[in-house]
Amino acid sequence: MVTRLSITRIPTPAFVIDMKALRKNASILKDVAEQSGAHILLAQKAYSCYATYPELSKYLSGTTASGYHEARLGYEEMGRPYRKETHVYAPAFTTEDMEALLPICDHIVFNSIAQWQMHRERIYEYWNTSGIGLGSSERPACGLRINPEYSEIETEIYNPCAKGSRLGILRNALDQALGNAPVTSDSWDASIFTGISGLHFHTHCEQGFEPLARTIKVIEERFVDLLSLPQIKWLNLGGGHHITKDDYDRDGLISEVKRLSEKYNVTVYLEPGEAVAIDAGCLVGTVLDIVENGMKIAILDVSAACHMPDVLEMPYRPPLYNSYEPDEKPFTYRLAGNTCLAGDVIGDYSFEKELKVGDRLYFGDMAMYTMVKDNTFNGMPLPSIWILEENGQATCYKTFGYEDFKSRL
Ligand SMILES: *Cc1c(COP(=O)(O)O)cnc(C)c1O
Repeated sequence: MVTRLSITRIPTPAFVIDMKALRKNASILKDVAEQSGAHILLAQKAYSCYATYPELSKYLSGTTASGYHEARLGYEEMGRPYRKETHVYAPAFTTEDMEALLPICDHIVFNSIAQWQMHRERIYEYWNTSGIGLGSSERPACGLRINPEYSEIETEIYNPCAKGSRLGILRNALDQALGNAPVTSDSWDASIFTGISGLHFHTHCEQGFEPLARTIKVIEERFVDLLSLPQIKWLNLGGGHHITKDDYDRDGLISEVKRLSEKYNVTVYLEPGEAVAIDAGCLVGTVLDIVENGMKIAILDVSAACHMPDVLEMPYRPPLYNSYEPDEKPFTYRLAGNTCLAGDVIGDYSFEKELKVGDRLYFGDMAMYTMVKDNTFNGMPLPSIWILEENGQATCYKTFGYEDFKSRL
């Protein structure tokens, strides 16, 4: 039985996906793809609410994944039913991963030369037995993630180019693998890189076009020999591009994608997560109790630690409807979760009216990096998932209970 309710009446805790906002983001991405020629993929690590994949498939070229489980989800829910692309990258793949990925992926991106060496014989064999000859359009296509050692991300935990990062191949390591020979078509073709048809980098996080333009400049300086090889047919610019934000320079991105495609004769890929799901949903909670300790503290049925861990990891103070900065309005509260973790604090907010037990709170921008990171620490219930349609009715898509907690332990 389908339950439809107004958002003000759904039981909490609950995630509510806003289809109107999701469609708006997706249509901006579709427009960029059409104008630039880029293929735009959903990075499922940010948002994997596959109930909405049928709709997203109307706008996007496919999905990308951080490993086998996400790749399979993307393939089963978007790739196979809607004939969309399935891409995958992971810091390392096991031989079991590779067996499972080969039949379902269009692109596989390797994080090191050693990983590529470990898997390439199997891949050549797969290409041969599936009747797709080497040198033609091999599927899955294989690529290497490079680390340009240039990123403008300031939060260290999110910076793939930070000192000591394991993410991506350094120029230095490429040169060593090539025996420091100059990279030419000949040496490249004869080398261990036979079968590599693309390059990938991911060095952005919540950024505008300008940092991307500067990064591409660095990549063109450091990797131009590879980029210019005829065997390189695609270039993946990763995620972290805030393409759907109002102030993003989309015209700049479109002309840069066109320039790269023409200059190097490559198909350009973008794989945003955030930009697909930004501002496309909320987390609804209820006030369970109010205590005092130097200030008023409201205990909620939503938790930073369990339901929005980025609040603690980044850290940041999430937007909350009808709330203000602390002390801006007469009633200030610290909002905190119903767990034993002392630091399970969402943030301090003020309100025009006093909060009461039973009041509902709507945290904004909670579609991305939330339900994919949910956990049941302290046995906390997982929020149910609702889909809000443009007619204002929310449909219950999933609920969770004790068994979901127990089955993981
Ligand atoms: C995280 C990640 C993305 C998506 O990043 P967003 O910031 O959500 O756009 C894309 N590609 C790779 C390789 C990633 O690690």
